Amino acid sequence: MRTTLDLHLVDPSANEPGLVVDVRDERRALLFDLGDIAALAPRLLLRVTHAFVTHTHMDHFAGFDHLLALGLGRLPQWTVWGGPGFVDQVEHKLRAYTWNVVHRYAVPMLIEARSLEFDGSRRQARFDSRALFAREDGLALPADPQDVLLDDPLFRVRARIVDHEMPVLAFAIEEKAQLRVRAERIAEMGLATGAWLSELKAAVLAGAPDDMPIDVVWQDREGAHRQVRPVAELRALVLDTVPGRRIGYVTDLRFTEANIEQLEELLADADLLHIESVFLEADKDHALRKNHLTARQAGEIARRVRAKKVVPFHFSPRYRGREHELRAEVAAAMGDSAQR
Ligand SMILES: [Zn+2]
Ligand SMILES: [Zn+2]
Repeated sequence: MRTTLDLHLVDPSANEPGLVVDVRDERRALLFDLGDIAALAPRLLLRVTHAFVTHTHMDHFAGFDHLLALGLGRLPQWTVWGGPGFVDQVEHKLRAYTWNVVHRYAVPMLIEARSLEFDGSRRQARFDSRALFAREDGLALPADPQDVLLDDPLFRVRARIVDHEMPVLAFAIEEKAQLRVRAERIAEMGLATGAWLSELKAAVLAGAPDDMPIDVVWQDREGAHRQVRPVAELRALVLDTVPGRRIGYVTDLRFTEANIEQLEELLADADLLHIESVFLEADKDHALRKNHLTARQAGEIARRVRAKKVVPFHFSPRYRGREHELRAEVAAAMGDSAQR
């Protein structure tokens, strides 16, 4: 089935963290974490509209500079989200460089930096190349009861803070339900496709009353046609609903009950969960010292959130060539649930 979002790990070998979310047919993309992104195609990076940074450890944030350098003079606007204090850290990144010519670039760059604070409130500031990336603070915003950071017509991005001996954002990416048109039925009704289909989809998605009239207008060789039909008639005959997926991106956290509860609320029944599986259970003490999960713990979390499918990643370099052991441990911990 065709999905709205196309996802893949930044590093196909799953060692470095990061997720690419491509919005199909829209020439725009989202990035989750800005770590080692240098291997991504420039044409992909230049489609990025939003980057979401879990936390500012280097392996998740050093790639900010790569995107900035690549995008200068080419990428007109992007928004970057992070956890508590993140706006200041974006400012520090930008202030570390000398900007004395960027204000003359033909294509300026506007960076919108936003942070999710401990109390759920949001801070924001803009950094414009035309003003040599000087910080311009925006209004602080209150918490959102549904944890939404980005509400797009096609999807939304939500986040909760988890603990990694520092705050880290865990993300849910939720595709919105899509309405599919049955072309053969349109013809059977003596109608033809046209811009009215968007109006109908919007009406159906908004829960419009059955008697709401839709202006069915189209153009063909015989000229312009117009019919007015009620939503009820068109809803029943023309469309069916494709539910959206809930997708998780979870990395760099401790295996604590408090963290698991946050994830249960953020990611219940996730269709697809990307989750760090840094160490083997045999190295559990080491995982504890480093504030990371073992593969077994990752599988346990996947089970607790009732994830349908899991993509483990952020493997420690100590397991190079043994990644299959990490994957097997995640699968076994998830599979245990079937027997419980
Ligand atoms: Zn990390
Ligand atoms: Zn970390």
